[in-house]
Amino acid sequence: MKFMIGDLPVLFPYDRIYPEQFSYMSDLKATLDAGGHCVLEMPSGTGKTVSLLSLIVSYMQFYPTKRKLIYCSRTVPEIEKALAELKRLMEYREEMGAKDEEFRGLGLTSRKNLCLHPEVSKEKKGKVVDSRCRDLTSAFACEKGRANPGSVPLCDYHENLNNYEPGNLIPPGVYTLDDVKKYGQEKGVCPYFTIRRMMPYLDIVIFSFHYLLDPKVAENVSAEMSKESIIVFDEAHNIDNVCIESLSVDLTRPMLDSAARSVNKIGDKIEELKRTDAEKLQNEYEKLVAGLQEANEHREDEDMLTAPVPSAKLSEDMVDEAVPGNIRKAEHFVAFLKRFIEYLKTRMRVLHVVAETPQSFLAHLKEITYIERRPLKFSAERLTSLVRTLELTNIDEHYALQQVVGFGTLVASYEKGFMLILEPYETEHATVPNPIFHMVCLDPSLAISPVFERFSSVIITSGTISPLDMYPKMLQFQPVMEVSYPMTLQRNAFFPMVITRGSDQVPISSRFEVRNDPAVVRNFGSILIEMSRVVPDGIVAFFPSYLYMESIVSAWYDMGILSEVWKHKLLFVETPDAMETSIALKNYREACNNGRGAVMLSVARGKVSEGIDFDHNYGRAVIIIPYQYTESRILKARLEFLRDNYRVRENDYLTFDAMRHAAQCVGRVLRGKTDWGLMVFADKRFARQDKRSKLPKWINQYIIEAHSNMSTDMAVSLAKKFIRQISQPFDHTQTGISLWTLEDIEDRQRKDREEADRALRALGPGAIQAQAAEGMQLDREIDGDAFAPVEDDMDYGDDIDDEALVRAAELHGMEVESG
Ligand code: SF4
Repeated sequence: MKFMIGDLPVLFPYDRIYPEQFSYMSDLKATLDAGGHCVLEMPSGTGKTVSLLSLIVSYMQFYPTKRKLIYCSRTVPEIEKALAELKRLMEYREEMGAKDEEFRGLGLTSRKNLCLHPEVSKEKKGKVVDSRCRDLTSAFACEKGRANPGSVPLCDYHENLNNYEPGNLIPPGVYTLDDVKKYGQEKGVCPYFTIRRMMPYLDIVIFSFHYLLDPKVAENVSAEMSKESIIVFDEAHNIDNVCIESLSVDLTRPMLDSAARSVNKIGDKIEELKRTDAEKLQNEYEKLVAGLQEANEHREDEDMLTAPVPSAKLSEDMVDEAVPGNIRKAEHFVAFLKRFIEYLKTRMRVLHVVAETPQSFLAHLKEITYIERRPLKFSAERLTSLVRTLELTNIDEHYALQQVVGFGTLVASYEKGFMLILEPYETEHATVPNPIFHMVCLDPSLAISPVFERFSSVIITSGTISPLDMYPKMLQFQPVMEVSYPMTLQRNAFFPMVITRGSDQVPISSRFEVRNDPAVVRNFGSILIEMSRVVPDGIVAFFPSYLYMESIVSAWYDMGILSEVWKHKLLFVETPDAMETSIALKNYREACNNGRGAVMLSVARGKVSEGIDFDHNYGRAVIIIPYQYTESRILKARLEFLRDNYRVRENDYLTFDAMRHAAQCVGRVLRGKTDWGLMVFADKRFARQDKRSKLPKWINQYIIEAHSNMSTDMAVSLAKKFIRQISQPFDHTQTGISLWTLEDIEDRQRKDREEADRALRALGPGAIQAQAAEGMQLDREIDGDAFAPVEDDMDYGDDIDDEALVRAAELHGMEVESG
């Protein structure tokens, strides 16, 4: 379908559209026009990805100044899904005559998923694949191998890339990850490096959040992207946690031992090099005297070690400066590392919890070891240089040392927004010390601020991102738009209910103090028994944690609850083991398909709650036992930071976090407008309006007061009634109400115009004159009615854009050069 949004012609690859999708696209366009950021919450299963891609591709092709879309998603299946959607969209655009011949769209994922090397690709761990690949592709290996073929092993897939023109390693088009692998097989080139090297030439790049947010990766991958790029963070409901994780490091005692061994090995290597090729060390020394940039001269494809700090932060006082004198010489740097590791080991000997700021850590470090802040800040970059000089292979062996050095660089780089927490015991009741030294980032805005600074439009979107104002506060940005879209349904297909007490009137709560009370445990169990009796096919129940789920399941076993559930459905349990869980999921789906019915017991924030869909018969009911925090020190520090710096109260944050996870779990089960199901919130705390109001609008709009404080028996009888009703024959076309044709869109646009006119008239004649003048101006510029139906011969592609470019430039008040 083709339609206009303002002056922008949009091609949408379906002949019907949801009203939510239309509003979403209109708001996206307004955000891009304003050149600002936005937070948009779109109901689960209403085609967010296709709306985003259709609007942005149309926008990029119509306004050629916006030339690149960087689309970040969370998981590989989501990246693959977005690429498939983009491919379909581009095929449709081609059918419609759009001129996108030179358009390129690719997705990037780790080497583990893309490697074709016969041996390296067989490795099970991503880190090992990375390390083995680096050995085969590092600048020094390539130099040696090319000068003297056979002297060091190289990867042919990597070498063959040199036979192609740099910006043309793959023909224009959109490729899924599988497509790139197939292409790589055919041509004998490495898919991973094909994508990496093509990055500056792509119109759309789809990859995971880390490639933009994690400074260790972002500098290598995203450095060359222009300011005019549009950035999208999809499924961004956990983006604050991703930011925090990317700037946090944990050290343990075994890691320090392993780092010490690495330093010894590096020391030996230096001695060896001194004997065989002392000039090399001298060269390195001279480069370090000249400054970091000199030492880190550009080396294509290398990404072995990078400082865990955004380069903007590093460059504040580093880039053109010399590396501090006391770590310039390789052997001095090794001695420096030894001292630092020994210091950390002694710190770990304490038997009580210590929380301190980076400043106090640095002051104590200096007092004991004479290590200053500046060399510590340079240590990650210094190690990178040393690894290159020594031509170290098997870099994954030195993982612990990288972490230690990253820890040092972080402590020395940030004064605010971090806390060092040393926990001597793993759990509260443990008696054998197993210390962990956490360098915790408390401020999620630190990792994302370079993105907001660099790019003019950043779109943060998800199905569950309420309350919307929380993200701008935590991430410190000013959105031009914050919208949560309700869900239009032709009939009430979702039935949310809050069960606050059992049939015996005992309150139901997972509050810490009462959650192991046998009466409460029994009442959770009877909800499951009753629901498995009345609900067909699949039921998913979400628990707050593995630990709590285990204790409840074993109590249910003793109480005979599980044998009752078994009479109606098979039972499957999620475990921390991914393999076990995937087998459980497979069998769960089979039981749902063959009519036996099944219950899946899962964990909020586990694998299942964040990535697996339970649409249609795979999830006819979802039971939520909400998240309960253990009061960890890290969480406390984070809450204090948010309160003191961003005025987010502890309780507001905790409720927000619990609600986003509850909404995420619910969203797994209800995957679209043709789906139906029950949402059971099993906790009396959900009866409170102030808590419920933090749920996304599209869920909250269907919770009515009468269903927000029920006992189990009331809930079961209403559930039966709902299932009877929803199972009646139904016209699925939904056209006109929850599904629009082109005529419906035009009708809506006409009504909006009329409404705007009426509002204008109410404001008086002055406002009408001003609007008329503006309207005439607009008519001249866009040459016709922006809302007129799209002409069939309308052109969408690059070739037309001589004319479109002029129009777009005029609209933006720019001068256009002739020719
Ligand atoms: S260059 Fe590519 S194919 Fe070769 S080992 Fe590395 S990832 Fe694998």
